[in-house]
Amino acid sequence: MKKHNFSAGPCILPQEVFEKAAQAVLNFNNSGLSILEISHRDKAFVAVMEDARALALELLGLTGKGYQALFLQGGASMEFLRIPYNLMKIDGKAAYLDTGTWANGAIKEAKAFGETIVVASSKPENYNHIPKEYSIPSDANYFHCTSNNTIFGTQMKSFPETNVPMVCDMSSDIFSRTLDFSKFDLIYAGAQKNMGPAGVTLIVVKEEILGKTGRTIPNIMNYQQHIEKESMYNTPAVFAVYTSLLTMQWLKNLGGIPAIEKRNEAKAQLLYNEIDRNPLFKGTTVKEDRSNMNATFLLNDEAHKEVFDSMWKAAGISGINGHRSVGGYRASMYNALPIESVQVLVDVMKELENKI
Ligand code: PMP
Repeated sequence: MKKHNFSAGPCILPQEVFEKAAQAVLNFNNSGLSILEISHRDKAFVAVMEDARALALELLGLTGKGYQALFLQGGASMEFLRIPYNLMKIDGKAAYLDTGTWANGAIKEAKAFGETIVVASSKPENYNHIPKEYSIPSDANYFHCTSNNTIFGTQMKSFPETNVPMVCDMSSDIFSRTLDFSKFDLIYAGAQKNMGPAGVTLIVVKEEILGKTGRTIPNIMNYQQHIEKESMYNTPAVFAVYTSLLTMQWLKNLGGIPAIEKRNEAKAQLLYNEIDRNPLFKGTTVKEDRSNMNATFLLNDEAHKEVFDSMWKAAGISGINGHRSVGGYRASMYNALPIESVQVLVDVMKELENKI
């Protein structure tokens, strides 16, 4: 039986995508070959890469606006490093907002390059909110933020107005809500939440911000090199790119980001309403910054843990154990998770209340 998969990532993808991807492993486009055994230079795969790059821009509303989409390897963590390499000038500086473990990971890599200013941090409160009052130095080479904090369950609902290029790690909420994406100069996201399997990262970059550092950039680190080579500087993650394309096509057929945003809001509302209503549970973050993707919550009394854990497991739920830095539970409700799965979790929470 298919589980109700609340895993934080890698995570659930649409069933239709699993089926099409499985078919392509056996016989890709009726070619008599598996997608895993063709050259990445094969015309059919070159078309997959072109379609994936174009569709990513289309879904974000960035077609024809000076942006390029890349599908590269190394995970979002590689971009923590590529970003300062490509954007921080020699003797320049960068500004970062510290909203959690992953933001912190990005800050650490930037520090190896040069002056890295942390404009605000919610670390003293164990990252339970998004800092709001801060200013971004106008001479920073760029400002970096993390739109959704996968571990701590917070999400930026608004973004600062700034004159410096804005860079955003959208790994855990890409394609999940409508935003004016043209406010961002560089967006990146590891595939393994809303886009596809692990192994590929989407980078959407406004070309005009590149080539200004005065630094020699090794080819593999250089966004301009990857743009010139159309994401084929080295062998791309063929299967991960193909599966990401299938997921983006699924999203487009559904009505794109505005349609999925409505579903995501309904799912989040259903679960947060129960967390707030049920006296046995409490949320871990301030309400205004709650993530629609990752809901973090605790039992008020740990004594109920054993019973609750056995109940949700019996209901076919998987992947809701909290991250060690928050404890409790984390229900990740990515695009492909049906609302019916959230309802099953809410029913189990109600059942626990009735039992106690
Ligand atoms: N940023 C965010 C917001 C994440 O959630 C993650 C991983 N889950 C990362 C970065 C790191 O991604 P990767 O493991 O692909 O390097």
